[in-house]
Amino acid sequence: MREPLPSTGVAQPTEASPTGGAITLSVVQLDALLQAVRADGCQLVGPTVRDSAIVYGAISGVGDLPAGWTEVQDAGTYRLQRRADDALFGYALGPHAWKQFFFAPRLKLWQATRQGDTFTVSDEQPPPPRLALVGARACELHAIAIQDRVFLHGGFVDPDYAARRDGALVIAVNCGQAGGTCFCVSMQTGPRATRGFDLVLTELLDGGHRFLAESGSDRGAALLGQAGGEPAAAGDRAAADQIVARTAQSMGRAFETAGVKDLLYRSSEHPRWDEVATRCLSCANCTLVCPTCFCSTVEDVTDLTGDHAERWRRWDSCFTQEFSYIHGGPVRASARSRYRQWLTHKLASWIDQFGTSGCVGCGRCITWCPVGIDLTEEIRAIRGTDGAAPQEESR
Ligand code: SF4
Ligand code: SF4
Repeated sequence: MREPLPSTGVAQPTEASPTGGAITLSVVQLDALLQAVRADGCQLVGPTVRDSAIVYGAISGVGDLPAGWTEVQDAGTYRLQRRADDALFGYALGPHAWKQFFFAPRLKLWQATRQGDTFTVSDEQPPPPRLALVGARACELHAIAIQDRVFLHGGFVDPDYAARRDGALVIAVNCGQAGGTCFCVSMQTGPRATRGFDLVLTELLDGGHRFLAESGSDRGAALLGQAGGEPAAAGDRAAADQIVARTAQSMGRAFETAGVKDLLYRSSEHPRWDEVATRCLSCANCTLVCPTCFCSTVEDVTDLTGDHAERWRRWDSCFTQEFSYIHGGPVRASARSRYRQWLTHKLASWIDQFGTSGCVGCGRCITWCPVGIDLTEEIRAIRGTDGAAPQEESR
């Protein structure tokens, strides 16, 4: 399953629902399906509860999923909360994006070892595990497609990303509830998964805990063929449609995308950048939780003897001063200029660069900003005072 989404964010996919016949799976049958995926050599990664949050990590089956948990999210706040049922996917999104599994947070690029008067250099990488993503949401499929475009379909192919991405199985889940900071409907990236998956599940809770399962690839169809479920009843299909429709009507945020690119291009001196700079801590949380941000830096380390050196790539952020450091100083020295750079890239120049918005409406940057800066609110403020004169002291 490697087919990229044709467009994301402002330019929108409108493809129909998945192909093939839908079946209904019990929780036990879903676990059997996951075990079959493991037996086929895939490592399962999916949502699980850790450190008071729902995060993505290695799982061994249904038993590791966050049964009966949901979360309450708003700008700068996230709290786990018990549900009244045992829903396995009864939450929206946690702080983790799937990008950690394809675009590694830290990656050793090469190492050099001294041997007498010479040294050897090795850039060999251990083969990455073949992954099966369990529980990817619609907005996240769009985010993966954006990173595919950056790392696989641009001028250069990132070999490590390609190796990790190759052969990955994607089991998506249609969202049964929106988070308090979600706005995928505004970005037309959800809440229904339309492409970019092998299987998609809709969790049904009324009338018995079960899953409507549909395939999105030949690989997914083959898995469903072995899964042992029942052909989906018309009532289950209707119930799944209602769940997604209800989720779409309960978005935590809304965002007006019309004209946002030109709005930002003509607002580089807007006084709102000064106002947001009084709150922004330049902590970089927003970029680290964002499923589409892809910036990195490299650093060299040596041991104390000088006999061994390594070069590492690690995630970086446009919110650090070092990120734009060029012989003597950073190009973006102020928080004002760094926030403006981030938002303008996400919502404007990304479109010129990659043909889509850089935002999929997941809301993570809003939830995980420690001071609750909300990009939907910032754009609303800039739009509401379009053409406002810059303040004298601003820069
Ligand atoms: S900019 Fe914020 S809302 Fe948009 S994709 Fe990134 S983290 Fe999600
Ligand atoms: S906008 Fe919020 S999360 Fe992003 S750097 Fe500023 S304070 Fe940190």
